[in-house]
Amino acid sequence: MAEIEKLGNFTTTDAPEYEDILQCMRCGFCLPTCPTFSLTGRERSSPRGRVALARTVGEGKMEFNQAIKEEAFFCLDCRACTTACPSGVQAGSLMEICRAQVAQQQPLPKWQAGFRTFILEKMLPNPNLLETSMLPARLYQKLGIQWLVRNSKVLKLGPEWIDKAEGMLPELVQPLRKKLPELSPAKGEKRGTVAFFLGCVMTLMYAEVSRQTVKILNHQGFDVITPKTQKCCGAPHLTEGDPETARQLASHNLDLFLDLDVDAIVTDCGGCGAALKEYEEMLAEREDHQRLQHFHSKIRDISEFLVEVGIRTAELKPVNKTVTYHEPCHICHAQGISKQPRKVLESIPGVELREMNESSWCCGSAATFSLKFTEESQKILDRKLDNVKKTEAEVLVTANPGCHLQLAWGLRKAQMPQPVLHLCELLGEATPD
Ligand code: SF4
Ligand code: SF4
Repeated sequence: MAEIEKLGNFTTTDAPEYEDILQCMRCGFCLPTCPTFSLTGRERSSPRGRVALARTVGEGKMEFNQAIKEEAFFCLDCRACTTACPSGVQAGSLMEICRAQVAQQQPLPKWQAGFRTFILEKMLPNPNLLETSMLPARLYQKLGIQWLVRNSKVLKLGPEWIDKAEGMLPELVQPLRKKLPELSPAKGEKRGTVAFFLGCVMTLMYAEVSRQTVKILNHQGFDVITPKTQKCCGAPHLTEGDPETARQLASHNLDLFLDLDVDAIVTDCGGCGAALKEYEEMLAEREDHQRLQHFHSKIRDISEFLVEVGIRTAELKPVNKTVTYHEPCHICHAQGISKQPRKVLESIPGVELREMNESSWCCGSAATFSLKFTEESQKILDRKLDNVKKTEAEVLVTANPGCHLQLAWGLRKAQMPQPVLHLCELLGEATPD
């Protein structure tokens, strides 16, 4: 058992480091980059305000009160403030830590606590159970019940978040994890071997993206190993204040992937990539620091990997489309990857990239934020859709399932014509079978 650290009125094992809080010099450079500050104009909903709340609690001058509880969950964890901050303050991560304290201090009603435990501790860590749980949703779509529900408008009678969650469901197909071969061989001259981290939301909601990623890697000359026993990356657990289960999942994935003899561990999910790159910090209490560093050195977002190895373009077919690119926060802010997705787009013959304003501004998805704060999420989304519209591009490209769900739903609702495609779907279209 880890020893309970206590920083002021923080009481969990996952209290923030005081030095991290002290790094904030209150300059305010982060303020214009924060979507929740932009919405409210309220200091406590800004990165600087959130850090100040944490500092007051950490110094024992204030209880862990309602204001900090609310701000912990109202923060999108978009990390835009960290990109802007000259001191490298991580207000988003700090708020993630605060969520663990909320979960501990504020017990939920029994049924909600049971549901939360089932999702976080039973369903997400068990890929078989997770995939089976999607069967009712697939039947709901296949048997035409979805059509009836949508046309009867019955969902308008309930809470807004249920209507939105239902509206976001993409057309579901069978999950891909079990169907993908453990080893997909390289095509043409072999350049190496990579392991593929699937990501649970990606394979459950966008199985075709995962299929295209394997096809692209094979065509680029890489054997692809997809371990069947890989589990959720742990990001949803951090988001919901359950760092202990996140650590268990991280340990499992780290040991599984490090046992493979591969050049890189590649993912096409921005959220998973960011979480995998944080395993070193999450598992800092493990003694095998070299293994942690080794794991970290191998993680690559697909765009980062392709640009690093050099994209073979000779056999790519033209895709004559104008596209614009929405940067997922967990790719541009959390991983610092901005140029690479654009380079991938530019490598596809026929594609014309039209830059949108504020491409790295959050879309308002942010895991469960879009369902917990439907009104605020809609306002953030409207700003994004307005920027998409101005480009007059035919296709909106992104690279994270949360953004994909939110943007596709928003475009449909606004009756805008653009389809949303993952970067790998577009490159996959150009890549021969
Ligand atoms: S979080 Fe960073 S950018 Fe914002 S006020 Fe503090 S030091 Fe300045
Ligand atoms: S992570 Fe995003 S929402 Fe949270 S404080 Fe930083 S900029 Fe604001």
